[in-house]
Amino acid sequence: MTTPLVTRKPLGSFDLWETMEKGRGCVSFTLELTARCNNNCRHCYINLPAGDTCAREKELSAEQIFAIADEAVRLGAIWCTITGGEPLLRPDFAGIYVGLKRKGLLVSVLTNAALINESHVELFRRYPPRDIEVTVYGVTRETYERVTRCPGSFDACMRGLDLLHNAGIKVRLKAMAIRSNFHEAEQIAAFSRARTKDYYRFDPLLHLRMDRDPARNAEIRQERLSPEEIVALEKADPERSESLKKNCHEYISDGPGDPGSDILITCGAGTSSFVISPDGKFRLCESLNHPDCVYDLANGSIEDAWHRFIPKVRAMTSCRKEYRETCHVCPIINLCMWCPAHADLETGMPDGQTEYFCRVAHARAAALGYKK
Ligand code: SF4
Ligand code: SF4
Repeated sequence: MTTPLVTRKPLGSFDLWETMEKGRGCVSFTLELTARCNNNCRHCYINLPAGDTCAREKELSAEQIFAIADEAVRLGAIWCTITGGEPLLRPDFAGIYVGLKRKGLLVSVLTNAALINESHVELFRRYPPRDIEVTVYGVTRETYERVTRCPGSFDACMRGLDLLHNAGIKVRLKAMAIRSNFHEAEQIAAFSRARTKDYYRFDPLLHLRMDRDPARNAEIRQERLSPEEIVALEKADPERSESLKKNCHEYISDGPGDPGSDILITCGAGTSSFVISPDGKFRLCESLNHPDCVYDLANGSIEDAWHRFIPKVRAMTSCRKEYRETCHVCPIINLCMWCPAHADLETGMPDGQTEYFCRVAHARAAALGYKK
């Protein structure tokens, strides 16, 4: 059961909060076309089986998607990211993609590349995407398919990548660093960097399932690297460790951190973008899935969600003692994945303490020379 949030405006004035609220303007949105996927990755926070008819029946139609896009464009959006699950599983993918392009939007596509065929390549040639982003789960068949649990997925992905590459279509590669592919981390980085010269990033922090499935969450926890392994990976990546040093070291405070306000959401979620789930639920970001933070478009509109619902969510506060004495005043919060979204997924409480991310943050702090 999830804990309801306190929903009141923060007391007194809080400059950053007010500035962010005043500065809100819609720039982009993400459409999760489906939660279904042709793979079954061990670490995946969303996927359902490709043939899940119940999930398929709930998916928004192309017309509903275009109506959402029209509203988003009226709010000022210029960029749309199409993701899943695996968006290419939808038979109407091409129609949706072209429809969004014809509205003048920049369109990015996140795909596992396994379903890319000649007609997709032709589509992307005629209507170039802003970019296509593909996650590399391994560079050998054995490792890749240990992650995806889908025989044939390695060859299919490599074939898809080759098709895109040979057609000169811009592809960005990224990776998840997890237990099942950790031994190949260096090769995955080398493979990806060789193909995306200006862009490569890996993510070692797995978050839990949107559907809170306990068995799948247990699998995700098993795939998490230890804090020490994460720090070692980050240290081995000069770009990443430089950026951690530069951006985080100065934020580690000697005493308790100064929270400045009681509000829970201090990031930019919902200030310039929003996310739509396959079944038409509006959220401020991919991870913020607490029932109080989800708006059902079946009973409303993007405009109402943007102008009325988001400010209400962003005004949420917590006065729970345990929170106020820990994360609320944490001097190393900038090294942590803590936020109400992840706290809720980890603990069922948007102001809960995220034990695993806490250990990672402390390991990072120690590596940066921080002493309690
Ligand atoms: S390919 Fe992506 S969406 Fe599909 S199961 Fe793997 S992580 Fe999930
Ligand atoms: S989980 Fe730990 S490191 Fe993260 S903000 Fe809370 S107290 Fe700080």
